[in-house]
Amino acid sequence: MAELDNISVDVVVIGAGIGGLAAARELTAKGLSVAILEARDRVGGRLLSISPSGIDLGATWFWPNEPRITKLISDLGLETFLQYTSGDAVYETVRGVERTQGNLIDVYSSRFTHGAQPLAQALADELPAGVIRFDEPVTSVRASSDNIEAHTQNGVFSAQHIVLAVPPALAVSSIRFNPTLSEKLYGVAKITPVWMGAITKVVAVYSEPFWREDGLAGSAISYVGPMREVHDMSGPEGEPAALFGFAPTMTIRQPTVSAEEVLRQLISLFGDKAGHPEKLLIHDWRYERFTSPPAVVRLIAYNTFGHSIYAEPQMNGRLHWASTETAQENPGHIEGALAAAERAANAVIRTESGAASE
Ligand SMILES: Cc1cc2nc3c(=O)[nH]c(=O)nc-3n(C[C@H](O)[C@H](O)[C@H](O)COP(=O)(O)OP(=O)(O)OC[C@H]3O[C@@H](n4cnc5c(N)ncnc54)[C@H](O)[C@@H]3O)c2cc1C
Repeated sequence: MAELDNISVDVVVIGAGIGGLAAARELTAKGLSVAILEARDRVGGRLLSISPSGIDLGATWFWPNEPRITKLISDLGLETFLQYTSGDAVYETVRGVERTQGNLIDVYSSRFTHGAQPLAQALADELPAGVIRFDEPVTSVRASSDNIEAHTQNGVFSAQHIVLAVPPALAVSSIRFNPTLSEKLYGVAKITPVWMGAITKVVAVYSEPFWREDGLAGSAISYVGPMREVHDMSGPEGEPAALFGFAPTMTIRQPTVSAEEVLRQLISLFGDKAGHPEKLLIHDWRYERFTSPPAVVRLIAYNTFGHSIYAEPQMNGRLHWASTETAQENPGHIEGALAAAERAANAVIRTESGAASE
């Protein structure tokens, strides 16, 4: 039998999504030793881009009122461009498809030239070598008066603090906590929705952005579905040309939307050319087991986002939450994950600098 690792650091971060990576960045900048335990074999979590096209199957946009992501992009020197919004929008109801003059669907937003996942990769590249350990799903967290431990099938990682950068409902359904979390925290965490965890993202890639030539923005709202909204997802200057849509699911058993259903709807929204994509990508986030717990579609208590209990360190003050759902500002967005990471890292740094000066 392989020997188990037994590693000791100042802080263990669970999850190498944008929240975990941003927390690790702040902690290592203060000279603290950090190990990030990531369940998948990649960084980014809900940031998932196809290389080299930069097509996003997860997050796409950021907005001008989001200071942390704006600063991070500038610190990391990433290229961005404005979301295409020119032209008319279309609306689909049971009565059919209607074209409206102008586009009231899209708001002013920006995109990453090479997709959103490179944001996570750039943060990972800045961290000292060996900080991130892949394929390390954490199965239990144990706290004592001296330390706190994260257990994986490969070993035990002990630390003074853990930053838990995993959606709360997933964390409480997949990680055992000893001592158990307070009833109040557990009760809030288990009903907190996973942002976009029940969404199927559809991307249709075309040889050219034909809708633009027809004076369309590529935006649609549908009250019929399966996609409830559609937007232009082309790269800068329309290359690669693409449309994307969100198809929500309402029940656990509802099958993933099929290519036929998607193409039928795209044709009715944008005409025959929309029926011939070069590539059609359909990504159902319900089945990403390191994003969404099995009951994800039943989680609808959005008023638990940024609940004040997530800002209270738990387990003798050693456990700090850092996923976007726990943020009080912009929860759900990348900006929210950065805000939560900042709060968690500051709580650790405050305690550790207090301990150092004692
Ligand atoms: C389809 C879609 C579209 C979106 N669009 C936008 C958008 O346009 N703009 C925007 O701002 N936001 C958008 N979002 C939301 C955005 O992606 C998230 O807010 C952000 O990525 C969350 O980061 P996070 O670090 O909090 O969580 P996550 O990205 O979920 O990271 C959690 C990490 O923890 C890991 N993990 C899970 N369990 C364990 C375990 N037991 N042990 C170890 N590791 C574990 C996961 O593998 C993952 O890497 C979208 C999301 C989706 C899915």
